[in-house]
Amino acid sequence: MKQCKICNNEVSTFKDVKKDLIYYRCLSCGFVSLDDKFMVNQTEEKKKYDQHNNSLENEGYVQMFEAFIDEAIAPYKQNIHKALDFGSGPEPVLSKLLEFRGFEVDIYDFYYAPKKVYESKKYDLITSTEVFEHLSKPLDVLTLLVKHLNPQAYMALMTKFPPKEDEEFLAWWYRRDPTHISFFTPQSFEVMADKVGLSVVKIINDNIIVFQKN
Ligand SMILES: [Zn+2]
Repeated sequence: MKQCKICNNEVSTFKDVKKDLIYYRCLSCGFVSLDDKFMVNQTEEKKKYDQHNNSLENEGYVQMFEAFIDEAIAPYKQNIHKALDFGSGPEPVLSKLLEFRGFEVDIYDFYYAPKKVYESKKYDLITSTEVFEHLSKPLDVLTLLVKHLNPQAYMALMTKFPPKEDEEFLAWWYRRDPTHISFFTPQSFEVMADKVGLSVVKIINDNIIVFQKN
């Protein structure tokens, strides 16, 4: 029987009949995931990411990150010097904006900046925006990242929380990207935090969560 990848509890199954996809929704924490067998391969995934043409010239994109920094990071800036942007994408926009604000920033991306610069380092802040929805093993990745946080350091994630109804979920634009496979509720983030030694500090809108290391 399928279990929730986050809290191991029972899940309900629902289907996108048209595209022949199977999703699971956790009856306890609300985490929604696409069945692993429908995951796109890495070649297709990279092709999809290459189509993202977001740069510092894209005003809306920059504004989104400025708001993210203002709300999720700026309140804690006194305690933040070194940051890592995990999953920085084809154009490292967020890291540049953080540097403009005086933070020292490393980047890592599985496809575009694959050198594991974080391996021997610890950070005061780790950001990961529009990354967790792509992960098939989110708890493993979170566990890895927490190892690279200093005590009391922050982690700020951006990923959209899923609608509560299956019908609404299936009609939701965000899940139509075939590389989006994991959808977290605030409650699933609470469970994850408990498991890896973080505390939830703040939830912003329907897509941002800030943790602090215990
Ligand atoms: Zn769950």
